[in-house]
Amino acid sequence: MSGVVVVGGGFAGVWSAAGAVRLARETGRELTVTLISPGDDLVIRPRLYQSEPERMRVSLDRILGPVGVRRVAATVTGIDTTGQTVTAADRQGNSAEIRYDRLILATGSELVRPELPGAELLFDVDTLPAATELDTHLNRLPDLPPEGRFTAVVVGAGFTGLEIATELADRLGTIAAAHGEEARVVLVERADSIGPELGPGPQQEIADALTALGVEHRLGTSVTAVQPDLVVLSDGTRLRTRTAIWTAGVRAGGLTAAIPGTRDRLGRLAVDADLAVTGVPAVYAAGDTAAAAAEPGHQVMQCCQHALQLGKFAGHNAAADLLGLPPVPFTATPYVTCLDLGSHGAVFTNGWDRRVVATGSVAKDRKRKVNELWIYPPTDDPDELLRQADYRFSVRQITEPRTS
Ligand SMILES: Cc1cc2nc3c(=O)[nH]c(=O)nc-3n(C[C@H](O)[C@H](O)[C@H](O)COP(=O)(O)OP(=O)(O)OC[C@H]3O[C@@H](n4cnc5c(N)ncnc54)[C@H](O)[C@@H]3O)c2cc1C
Repeated sequence: MSGVVVVGGGFAGVWSAAGAVRLARETGRELTVTLISPGDDLVIRPRLYQSEPERMRVSLDRILGPVGVRRVAATVTGIDTTGQTVTAADRQGNSAEIRYDRLILATGSELVRPELPGAELLFDVDTLPAATELDTHLNRLPDLPPEGRFTAVVVGAGFTGLEIATELADRLGTIAAAHGEEARVVLVERADSIGPELGPGPQQEIADALTALGVEHRLGTSVTAVQPDLVVLSDGTRLRTRTAIWTAGVRAGGLTAAIPGTRDRLGRLAVDADLAVTGVPAVYAAGDTAAAAAEPGHQVMQCCQHALQLGKFAGHNAAADLLGLPPVPFTATPYVTCLDLGSHGAVFTNGWDRRVVATGSVAKDRKRKVNELWIYPPTDDPDELLRQADYRFSVRQITEPRTS
């Protein structure tokens, strides 16, 4: 009764478990599916830059309970790919071994924090606890000594840095305005351009948003030290602030190192077309842990769009392999991005070269749908969950609004 064991309760893990159950149900077979995750909720990570991050989660039991997925609240600390067991520590610190017939590693990614003086003072929005700590801190700023209290320094002008900086222009602005002051948001980027990895397509819209929102930027610069009321930049500038937020650099979670596979520069495991980890029997990878081919010449991104799809395929294929059914090669839907730009709107792009197809309120409306509807799995609704768990399911088939 070992069955399929999924490690990780994020988007990839949830859809892996649901995808495995769906195939078993469709073929009328018995299959035990277990999901191991330290928390009780699916954390809606892409929304952690928004206010009240505590709201950005959904009970795993309300998603997966109705389809019979067994859930273990624990952290996996080791994987024995020869003996086909994982070691998991529960919240009381008790360790147990859990056997698997097929394993899906879906432990996501994590922010790489820098080594610099005062690094422990940096905030981030990578995890629910970290985002909550920042939210609490922002709300307490009025109680702090005046100098620099309504200034925020955001380090890294990539996807996350841009979303939190443009969001903060208003969020911090509202807090400051209540005390008759103005907010100042400074975006610090080591490269010579904003959003270097986003390419030239959305650059103009991003630049317009930063100007409209009054977000300052310092390019070709990084942070060299942080103090409780100060950030020092590599060009010697000293910025008075109580809020320095680090967003630069994300890698696959550390547990990938427990699998004896090849890893890419992001720490992701090499997988074949069926998402089986290359050269490691009975192990699959999905989401931010998988270096899968999306299209010729392009690997998947560490993003929600790909994590959801990778999960459905990995769940299907792990179950298919165990049940003696043929696998289906992973195929990604056309790559799109939707970058939130605060009250300026958003920018929606198509393709790997990120051609802009919508900006302003049209793109913002789409971003709201992504954030508040499309990335939320159905709760208390086994039939709808299994319908969406089909690897052929398209997000366009979601019609009923869901709220966070
Ligand atoms: C602020 C922010 C904004 C983002 N914005 C966007 C966006 O606009 N669009 C987009 O597409 N993507 C965005 N992303 C990226 C997106 O959130 C990730 O790509 C996505 O969450 C990956 O899903 P996942 O399931 O692979 O990993 P995760 O969502 O990270 O889930 C990993 C799961 O594994 C669990 N886990 C980790 N280690 C262990 C262990 N040892 N044992 C057991 N369980 C473990 C974790 O608790 C978690 O449940 C954003 C991310 C952040 C942080």
